[in-house]
Amino acid sequence: MGGTFDPIHHGHLVAASEAAALLDLDEVVFVPTGKPSFKQHAKVSPAEHRYLMTVIATASNPRFTVSRVDIDRPGLTYTVDTLRDLRAERPDADLFFITGADAIEQILTWKDAAQLWDMAHFVAVTRPGHHLTVDGLPPDGVTTLEVPALAISSSDCRRRAEAGQPVWYLVPDGVVQYIAKHGLYRGLDE
Ligand code: ATP
Ligand code: MG
Repeated sequence: MGGTFDPIHHGHLVAASEAAALLDLDEVVFVPTGKPSFKQHAKVSPAEHRYLMTVIATASNPRFTVSRVDIDRPGLTYTVDTLRDLRAERPDADLFFITGADAIEQILTWKDAAQLWDMAHFVAVTRPGHHLTVDGLPPDGVTTLEVPALAISSSDCRRRAEAGQPVWYLVPDGVVQYIAKHGLYRGLDE
């Protein structure tokens, strides 16, 4: 499951858990992105903070792991490189790339998009009522999965942390404490 995870929240965790259950996955590997190519102009927290919050959030689930492949690779993050690195670590695995429908909708603009379909099966998680509306995706390449409506986003969690409003229960307890301990998202507009 790829994401910026700035911070990881319960929407991500429910989506991963639903995908694992419905697709009968042995493991969900959370892959915090290095420098997201589509968020170049946004201020993104240092990779190490995003990685550690992801580790804290997933630690209690034996099927959830976290990979450093994207944050340790120099340069912008492209999914084609992520999948190549994960494949090298797990040569015999069936790979599923789980991400939000919003990201899948941009898939045709991703680097080496045509190669991606052979590298993994794509899973687009959507909120109920949201349907994928892209033309040109191979019919068997993408599975759409409705996850329970969770009106949680990292942007909203950052805004709340910045304004001193609670993020309790939107993100796991350890992540609330990590954000406070390191003063993340303070003074975002500076
Ligand atoms: P931001 O608000 O900064 O864009 P985000 O909440 O979308 O952050 P990302 O790290 O960008 O978090 O998310 C990774 C993927 O998880 C994205 O493709 C996104 O669509 C999906 N996702 C995010 N929030 C939810 C949610 N509440 N339910 C299901 N999927 C989600
Ligand atoms: Mg997003």
